[in-house]
Amino acid sequence: MTFFNRNQIILSLSFIFLIGISYFLSISFGENLAREKKISKKIIADEDPIHIKEKLEIDFTHVQRYYLQEGETFTGALKQADLEDEEINDVINIISEKIDLRKLKVGTLIETYTKSINDKKTINEIIIYPDIEKKIYVQKVNNEFVVGEDKKKLFSKLKFYEVEIHNSIYESLKKVDTPDEVIMEFVQLYSFDIDFQRDIRNGNKIKIFFDIYTDLQNNYIKSGKIYFSEIILNDEIYELYRFQSGGDEFVEYFSREGKCATKALMKTPINGARLSSGFGMRKHPILGYNKKHQGVDFAAPTGTPIMAAGTGHVEFVGNNGGAGKYIRIKHLNGYKTSYSHLSEYASGIKKNVKVRQGQVIGFVGNTGLSTGPHLHYEVIFNGKRINPMKMKLPSGKQLKGKNLEIFLAEKDRINSELSILSSMN
Ligand SMILES: [Zn+2]
Repeated sequence: MTFFNRNQIILSLSFIFLIGISYFLSISFGENLAREKKISKKIIADEDPIHIKEKLEIDFTHVQRYYLQEGETFTGALKQADLEDEEINDVINIISEKIDLRKLKVGTLIETYTKSINDKKTINEIIIYPDIEKKIYVQKVNNEFVVGEDKKKLFSKLKFYEVEIHNSIYESLKKVDTPDEVIMEFVQLYSFDIDFQRDIRNGNKIKIFFDIYTDLQNNYIKSGKIYFSEIILNDEIYELYRFQSGGDEFVEYFSREGKCATKALMKTPINGARLSSGFGMRKHPILGYNKKHQGVDFAAPTGTPIMAAGTGHVEFVGNNGGAGKYIRIKHLNGYKTSYSHLSEYASGIKKNVKVRQGQVIGFVGNTGLSTGPHLHYEVIFNGKRINPMKMKLPSGKQLKGKNLEIFLAEKDRINSELSILSSMN
């Protein structure tokens, strides 16, 4: 009895002991597992947030990034990654369903995710980022390649700034972090009405209300639309409300009364240039005799973009004697504009091609009879050259009836958004 009891006690004790140990072991093992998981997740997250799904293969996965250089191809980039020709061919075949590989731009980012198995490198995934919003990927799933496409989710952010002009519009808007594209558009909106050289003084004010698009990490991706803008000069206020009138596919800008601000031609088809020679009699700088200056000259560095002053068709593009490299555009209502001494034409500018107002058609140069880089700009009305700085152009339509009603409601909506935004600033 005592023997049995003693044995029983020993047995029970060792049993309890064993259970205790295994319990202890299981806890610490579990904890270790959990800790390991956490660590591996963290490493991957630091390396590349997109690829958390590949956590189990982190030790073997290899990430390489390429930026396409001038003259380089997608195939070339994959070859640099030391991949098997067969896999490269498979990837090229399948990814070509989504993208024309010959049209990849210089600087395009390519990522390769590879794995080494028995010293042989094999592809997990290849990603191309053709632009800032898109990625195209080929993934290996069950030993087969599948192709897919992702668009970045973008977030619109409204911005409203009220700034005093100092030195230049560009500088003043740049100070409050306005993107270049928005500044360009703002300047274009006013090129119909305002002579930036003469009309604007330091201390004049600008208001601008627009949106931009950012990604999830709040990085700027692209600009959106200008909904409202205003320039307050010494004695005049120019305000513009964006509006798409019924049925019209064109968006235009209107004054608060619903008068269209879009004019037929721009007085200054170039940004930030200095008017260096006006219209009228003067001694020609090269020919040396008095001659009527049939246009206006804007001094600007070689390469400065020149815009089409109005919508129309290219009537002439090519060398034109003393005018050097030259473009002439035919607009509506008997108007033509011409641009001389260019260094280059913008791509796609050919005879009979349609151009939009504000579209870049060429670049400032010094070709033909010219003493320095400048744009010689002419406006021709019914065959006669007129002074672009003084031209009186049709001031656009006045909204009426239902269209006017809708516009006024849209204007009120913009104004109430503006008052909310300015109270937050
Ligand atoms: Zn000239």
